[in-house]
Amino acid sequence: MTPAIAVQQLGKHYGSLVALDNIDLVIQPGEFFALLGPNGAGKTTLISILAGLTRASHGTASVMGYDVLSDYREARKRLGVVPQELVYDPFFTVRETLVIQSGYFGLKRNDDWIDEILQHLDLAEKAHVNVRALSGGMKRRLLIAQALVHKPPVIILDEPTAGVDVDLRQSLWQFIQQLNAQGHTIVLTTHYLEEAEALCNRVAVLKQGKIVALDSMHHLVHNTRGYTLELRLSSENVPADLQMWPCRQEGYVCSLKITHGAEIETILSILRKHEIQVLDMQLLQPDLESVFMKLMEADSANIV
Ligand code: ATP
Repeated sequence: MTPAIAVQQLGKHYGSLVALDNIDLVIQPGEFFALLGPNGAGKTTLISILAGLTRASHGTASVMGYDVLSDYREARKRLGVVPQELVYDPFFTVRETLVIQSGYFGLKRNDDWIDEILQHLDLAEKAHVNVRALSGGMKRRLLIAQALVHKPPVIILDEPTAGVDVDLRQSLWQFIQQLNAQGHTIVLTTHYLEEAEALCNRVAVLKQGKIVALDSMHHLVHNTRGYTLELRLSSENVPADLQMWPCRQEGYVCSLKITHGAEIETILSILRKHEIQVLDMQLLQPDLESVFMKLMEADSANIV
């Protein structure tokens, strides 16, 4: 099967700064893929190279089998990118913007699809409003509509829900999930890790231009050993014997990293010995956020 996205030994340098460091990545058609990483990890650089906006320093990248450099037009036709930054032309209405965008891809009669996108993104009522009169969230919806106008098989969303209200978030994800169910490949970057965990089947985590984790979402989250035991205590003086567990304390709340449930009894008996009462207790399962934090804390040398 031709991969939706294939990237080989891809590198990008800005002077002495290495934004992407020999990335290898294959995303198959139909995947809902999360591309995660802290600010400056290289996500937007990778997306810009795929969209033909930035030239890689070395390596290759292709979309649906078309090289993003030597076969730029074919690759670009198959890709829809929702950029992170709000860029728009203030002189046109919403509908005009989408008609013009269709024209870039040689699509003349695209009205039915434009209507459908406007409907799904709750922009139908704004179709004849000038873009400069839209709110920030609505401008973002328009950016999403622009990325979808040519029905690309591969859709990359770079932080699509930044500054977007809860209602739109939900309707947007429903729409994107529907597109994914119809076979579109979705690549998502987001700092909302719960969103990525709920939506994506596979995930790559970038850190300082390198891929530090590449796995199925389920495997990545559930293979992380251990739990967090969160205790609200009657005293702020946490006994020294508890320090054998990695511990984070904020006032009366103490969070301990444990490996087995059986350790809870030992912890409680230590607290009893020191006459410290447990006022509240929660056992937290690992989630994408805790896995992500662990990856970010780990030494960059421990890279997969
Ligand atoms: P964010 O989550 O903040 O969007 P990101 O993972 O998308 O971050 P990039 O925007 O790809 O990160 O940036 C990767 C690195 O490359 C950063 O150190 C950034 O400062 C640098 N960088 C990006 N574009 C340029 C440029 N045009 N010139 C110089 N350095 C750049």
